[in-house]
Amino acid sequence: MERKERDDEGEANVVVFPFPVQGHINPMLQFAKRLASKGAKVTFITTNSQQTKPMQVPSTSINTQAIEFPEGDKANGTEEFVHLFKTLVSKRLANLIEHQISSSSHPPRALVYDSFLPWALDVAKQFGLHGASFFTQSWSNSSIYFHLNQGTLKVPLEENTIVSLPSMPVLGINDLPSFVSDTRSYPTLLKMVIDRFSNFEEADWLFCNTFVELENEIINWMSSKWPIKTVGPAIPSMYLDKRVKDDNDYGLQLFKPESDLCIKWLDSKETGSVVYVSFGSLAGLTEEQMLELALGLKRSNRCFLWVVRETEQKKLPSNFIEETSEKGLVVSWSPQLDVLVHRAVGCFMTHCGWNSTLEALSLGVPMIAMPQWTDQPTNAKFITDVWEVGIRVSKDEKGIIRKEEIERCIKEIMEGEKSLDIKTNSEKWKKIAKAAVDEGGSSDKNIDEFVAKITCN
Ligand code: UDP
Repeated sequence: MERKERDDEGEANVVVFPFPVQGHINPMLQFAKRLASKGAKVTFITTNSQQTKPMQVPSTSINTQAIEFPEGDKANGTEEFVHLFKTLVSKRLANLIEHQISSSSHPPRALVYDSFLPWALDVAKQFGLHGASFFTQSWSNSSIYFHLNQGTLKVPLEENTIVSLPSMPVLGINDLPSFVSDTRSYPTLLKMVIDRFSNFEEADWLFCNTFVELENEIINWMSSKWPIKTVGPAIPSMYLDKRVKDDNDYGLQLFKPESDLCIKWLDSKETGSVVYVSFGSLAGLTEEQMLELALGLKRSNRCFLWVVRETEQKKLPSNFIEETSEKGLVVSWSPQLDVLVHRAVGCFMTHCGWNSTLEALSLGVPMIAMPQWTDQPTNAKFITDVWEVGIRVSKDEKGIIRKEEIERCIKEIMEGEKSLDIKTNSEKWKKIAKAAVDEGGSSDKNIDEFVAKITCN
């Protein structure tokens, strides 16, 4: 089908379609809002099964539409979920776009799809739309999967392998994404992240939630060959000291934050005194690890705000919440950005999910890196050795981070030898991150270019 002629001067309808997990919804929704703030008409698509249905949708300038996916609840494991998603949701996406084309005064001109869903490019092409793949992980991580796809990195790797890839720091086995260091752990997800590169050369753009200053070498290396455009950090503008209408939170939550409780509690604490602990929306700790972490937090004798999702709370040691209530607060979900900008927070013990990493880095909060799986080990490597905004915990021979190590890391980041340098670096990156999305900044310009292109062609 031919590309639709533009119907309205200066306006274009862009459809934005994330994979329905919190860490993908947040940056893509944020990107959608940025497009809207620059004059594009945006339709943001949610995919609703019981687990993926948002509790709250944004009241912003963008239009949200749901694709129902009740079959997702009956899926037996990740592989079946992904299979059903591809076979059923692809058809429903095509129907939705077809309907928009026939009925909307702003028919879609571009589809920005999650790079986890490369088949969405076929849907874009079917209707003559521009197709843009959105990468929600760091470009450094994505480039590792690029090399797997190209065969320039081969797995499985030997135990003590050192991996040397173009424009990347040398990576030990523990710095690689977990799907790569242990290819047997999650074969479906490994295939999914490699498949992002199955048709990427046919996409019109490759967007990434990062900024060029942060991953300069690898982005320069890859963007000399492909249309890679950095558009991050995709964080609501309010937190970056800007005021854009309706942009004061991500706005689409799969979990319910205990906002008032967290903020009131933080208000009562001294500046820089609190350790914020969170492992994001997916990672689960073993019971043994949970116990060591709980004991380590207790031993540190610091105030802590710990997010333990409802499904994880049964692993907490009995009476822990009661016993530590003077110093600690455990919540099932936090308003993370409000927490990170709160004056009381002194450091962030994080699983190093890419959003959490970018959020802490962009808001100037030093990190204790405690990576769990997927891209997190590589993010931890960059946090400690490349950007130098944090330290990383060490595991014992059984793979457990012991209470003494937790205590040591908290002391080190709050008042240790490296703490001042880390704080200075964190402040430096905060300024660079903000500049990237400010008017005329590297990411802002890329978003402008995209909007100009889809409104002109
Ligand atoms: N988040 C939040 N409250 C919490 C924990 C996480 O709002 O208590 C948000 C966080 O700000 C981030 C997202 O959830 O935007 C988690 O994404 P990330 O990539 O860090 O980790 P994932 O959940 O994908 O492992």
